[in-house]
Amino acid sequence: MLFTNNLGYPRIGAQRELKKASEAFWSGKITRKELLDAGLKIRATNWKIQKEIGIDLIPSNDFSFYDQVLDTTLMVGAIPARYHGLAANKSSEHELDLYFAMARGFQHEGIDVTAMEMTKWFDTNYHYLVPEFTKNQQFSLFSEKIINEYYEAKQLGVDTKPVLIGPITYLLLGKEKEAGFDRLDLIEALLPVYEEVIGRLRKYGVKWIQFDEPFLALDLPDKARKLYQQVYKRLAKSAGDTKLLIATYFEGVNDNLEVALSLPINALHLDLVRAANQLEAVLDNIPNELILSLGVVDGRNIWKNDYERSLTLIDKAIRKIGKERIWIAPSCSLLHVPCDLAYEDNEETLPLEVKDWLAFAKQKLEEVKDLALLRSEYEDTAVLQRFKDNKVSQNRRKTSALIHHQEVKDRVNAISDKDTNRRSVFAERKAKQLETLNLPLYPTTTIGSFPQTKEVRGWRAKFKKGEITIDEYENLIRAETKEAIAWQEQVGLDVLVHGEFERNDMVEYFGEQLQGYAFTKNGWVQSYGSRCVKPPVLFGDVSRPKDMTVYWTSYAQSITRLPVKGMLTGPVTILQWSFVRDDQPRWQTAFQIALAIRDEVLALEHAGIKIIQIDEPAIREGLPLRQKDQRDYLNWAVKAFRLTAAGVEDDTQIHTHMCYSEFNDIISDIAAMDADVITIETSRSQMELLDAFANFNYPNDIGPGVYDIHSPRIPSKEEMISLMDKASAVINPKQLWVNPDCGLKTRAWPETKAALEAMVDAAKTLRGVI
Ligand code: GLN
Ligand code: ZN
Repeated sequence: MLFTNNLGYPRIGAQRELKKASEAFWSGKITRKELLDAGLKIRATNWKIQKEIGIDLIPSNDFSFYDQVLDTTLMVGAIPARYHGLAANKSSEHELDLYFAMARGFQHEGIDVTAMEMTKWFDTNYHYLVPEFTKNQQFSLFSEKIINEYYEAKQLGVDTKPVLIGPITYLLLGKEKEAGFDRLDLIEALLPVYEEVIGRLRKYGVKWIQFDEPFLALDLPDKARKLYQQVYKRLAKSAGDTKLLIATYFEGVNDNLEVALSLPINALHLDLVRAANQLEAVLDNIPNELILSLGVVDGRNIWKNDYERSLTLIDKAIRKIGKERIWIAPSCSLLHVPCDLAYEDNEETLPLEVKDWLAFAKQKLEEVKDLALLRSEYEDTAVLQRFKDNKVSQNRRKTSALIHHQEVKDRVNAISDKDTNRRSVFAERKAKQLETLNLPLYPTTTIGSFPQTKEVRGWRAKFKKGEITIDEYENLIRAETKEAIAWQEQVGLDVLVHGEFERNDMVEYFGEQLQGYAFTKNGWVQSYGSRCVKPPVLFGDVSRPKDMTVYWTSYAQSITRLPVKGMLTGPVTILQWSFVRDDQPRWQTAFQIALAIRDEVLALEHAGIKIIQIDEPAIREGLPLRQKDQRDYLNWAVKAFRLTAAGVEDDTQIHTHMCYSEFNDIISDIAAMDADVITIETSRSQMELLDAFANFNYPNDIGPGVYDIHSPRIPSKEEMISLMDKASAVINPKQLWVNPDCGLKTRAWPETKAALEAMVDAAKTLRGVI
């Protein structure tokens, strides 16, 4: 029978136990001991689940109270100087305090230290804490979590495979905090800690250690490529009888094949969901003893595995290297999928037919086990039955009337260039818009949402539970909208918004109204720390049965003479923040969504809305990891956006909004989106982000955010003026708008009002009015 291998299990708990316990601990409602117990309980449950399924290599140290990169930082003692006061006390209790201080910042007893920076884990929606390195960075074994957790599992009767981030990936994930060195040169200082950890684990009789080296599957600088050789030679030496597995994922080893296959390791894990095409070359070049862990079950998405397709890959490998050298595994850690499908019992939002196409973490491991059993010597009738069932469900998906709508497919096929071009070029549109809209220099606006107060969320909750009627709910939302409009008029904003009070979330709100979407009750995935997201499930052809935003936008417009900006989420962002179907290319799904949004744009225009914003905050994060794939993505992503916007008249003004973006490398694509106005997040970078636009001679209008909405801090009029002065120095003032960095839904009203009053004042001063 084939061996089974798991790379990592979700750590939040099937009922988000970790979130609840951490937040209770942070707010002082439970003790440290209670939090530690909650963690232990999750680990014990996870190990038990995996053992019962019959997984051979069960991971440990995949659990984390916040983030696995931060765990590694603590393991190797790379503690930035600002935490040294907290690090002085080395008791295990204080280790947790130090850990959370690094994750979340610390303000207490006269100490005030900021958190470490957070960034996205490759192309996922998971965020890790960025290691900080200095020129003379020292490393020493600090946290023994990896050893303790191995021991803990052993006590519970599970002999696990400790998992850790490999040293080269760890360095590459970090950042140099001072000039004059290359963080890869720190490897000499870092390796002794890894050697020590390996030595300790070896003493405990650990059989396998997994090193996550996803960078081995990415475009690598030559220097890093060379390092892999040296580093793993040394680590293999300290491992002795303990065997080493390197895990690659999210891409294929491709041009790093030679390096990957020449490492003195015992097993190599490949992601065959993202990069099935690497298998052939790996099999052709594989050295004699090396074991291959075949990642055939998708760890990034929630679809049921296609057994037949997986077995084709597995059989190919068996023919070449034999069963003894093959393991079956998920493609990557299961961190990126929800825990257990068994909790999903709401047929109204997740029809049984759709549920039958899904597999969450636990089900995915059952699939891994099934695939191994299907290639065992013994005939197991239950497994054979499951194989047949799997085939039936795959076939149903191929032909389901829930998924497939020919008219949607036809419409995508009929898209032509004409559909993606505005009637006139920007200069002509701008002239007409100036005339129709009659806006001042430095026009002021906001990004869309106003505070989603407890009350507003409470009304929605009551409405969903049936405690208030739809009329009562809508009356409340109407009143809130009315107040927001009146308030914006009073403050003197130029372009108003309705406030998005009726929306739970900028993707879910549209998903709920589009055909082709389903929703889980408990499909939570960790985004960072205790924050979890529940992406909607985009399972089928997308269409728009009815208007989605016209009512609320028109209502707002009906009570003011100032222009109200319609507010939509763009196709790429909807795609990016959903669990997306895997039975057609992503671009096809994006175009289907784009057509639905295009219809909504036209409906808004028809209803008399003169300004429409199509948010695309996620366009940058969708960028493929390998450079060779990026051009293709950017082409279709830009095209999808243009498709949503291009149907309108010249004097209808299209806005877009983007946040958390590094714009430099995609500025020409942003320009190609050809929005009349783009609002971007810039205040935290002191307008530096604008340089990309300035250097490019960005032709259309720009609203660089003048204050950070992530903090309750109220910016002064003067600081906003000085930021706008900086902007005016590099961009023609006639192109500039004045607005906050992002939507205001997470803020409270008092600071929102004070900040926007100051912002409008700033704009007036800039115009020379006051
Ligand atoms: N219109 C949205 C809002 O204001 C935009 C949110 C975002 O960019 N993430 O909330
Ligand atoms: Zn934003």
